[in-house]
Amino acid sequence: MPNQQHGIVAHAETEKLNHECVACPFCGLHCDDLTIATTGAGLIVTANGCDRAKAGFERNVPCASPQIGGQDAPLETAIGEAARRLKASRLPLIGGLGTDVEGMRALLAMADKAGAVVDHVLSTALYRNTGVLQTKGWFMSTLTETRNRADLLIVVGSDLSKEHPRFYERIASPADVMFESTSGQRTVVLIGCGAGAATKVTGERIGKVLDVACEPADIPVLLGALRALLKGVPHAAPPPAGVSEAMLAEIAELCRKASYGVVVWAPQALSFPGADLAVQIISDIVRDMNKTTRFAGLSLGGNDGVASAASVCSWQSGYPLRVSFASGAPEYDPYRFDIARMLAEGEGDLLVWVSTFTPDAGPPATDLPTIVIGTPGLALSRTPDVFIPVGTPGLDHGGRLVRCDGVVSLPLRGVRAGQHPRLIDVAAGIEAAL
Ligand code: SF4
Repeated sequence: MPNQQHGIVAHAETEKLNHECVACPFCGLHCDDLTIATTGAGLIVTANGCDRAKAGFERNVPCASPQIGGQDAPLETAIGEAARRLKASRLPLIGGLGTDVEGMRALLAMADKAGAVVDHVLSTALYRNTGVLQTKGWFMSTLTETRNRADLLIVVGSDLSKEHPRFYERIASPADVMFESTSGQRTVVLIGCGAGAATKVTGERIGKVLDVACEPADIPVLLGALRALLKGVPHAAPPPAGVSEAMLAEIAELCRKASYGVVVWAPQALSFPGADLAVQIISDIVRDMNKTTRFAGLSLGGNDGVASAASVCSWQSGYPLRVSFASGAPEYDPYRFDIARMLAEGEGDLLVWVSTFTPDAGPPATDLPTIVIGTPGLALSRTPDVFIPVGTPGLDHGGRLVRCDGVVSLPLRGVRAGQHPRLIDVAAGIEAAL
């Protein structure tokens, strides 16, 4: 019998340390059922991980030193240099924000003291939703509600197997559901999700899969026509090429017959012109359908800690992301404080880039002096002025991440002996020196 304590199982015969029920930080679903083995060669996902989780947990993270101008430096010296540059800056920009709840709290405290602008690398996707929420409100579901109640899933513009690989396994076709009435098979409609997306929609609880292929840019037109059909009013524009009136009528009939329909989208996948309009029409359809049955939306964002960053920014500053502390008080403007736009238009005089989860989310190209606080191996187009390597929450140390539906935060565990400091300590050190 293995010795088990707090979900950690040591198998003496294999000299592995198995961590069970581990929460995964690598997409906004934050599945909390993974088994991770710590071995001499690194971490191995031994149960319940997808390819994305395996890439994250099993990545061979190089041991890195803090650097100033490309030269190794003691951690305290690098923290001091970062603080000196922040202090001298008239308008620092703190971007990326790929961290967990505690890391974001520390970054906001640092931004407040430095008079900086804060913006997440996935804010543009986030704002596809925020604009709709701010202007008209919406009906939203949660992962748990959808798992237990939905009998119709309409997925719009998103191949969920890429951004949220276990959605169909854990939410659309889970092993158990709470209510008998929804224990049967669910119908899944894919609208403009791309070639091959339908082949990934599998599972015992998945019934009919209706794949409605169209160009991403045509999705708003298709949704507009569907909404008109559901309301029984004429629609001026014909359905997009390849989508017949009969197909639209079939989707409308499925909506009318559904006991609990959920329209699902991943905002970062909706990168076509008019994507904001697509989210608006989804919200309108959901509202219309609630006059006769139950319908809700489900937005699957949350990757790179964006749900945590947005939540912490809201509860600490009173505003969602894209906030400036330059005036001494938090100021919110989703256009003015878009860091990508600010860099393109020559605003700001220092970029601080934070990315603790994946090596892909490196800083954008810029001529500004740059401080990078991130996971070792982070993609860099040039040597930053200051680089401070930090651990990854959920691998090197504990933490918390807000799930993509925003209703729970998942505790993260440290599953290996991290060689690098925590972001929270680095940011607190910089803040203290300001
Ligand atoms: S679906 Fe997302 S949270 Fe779940 S194991 Fe894969 S990467 Fe991790």
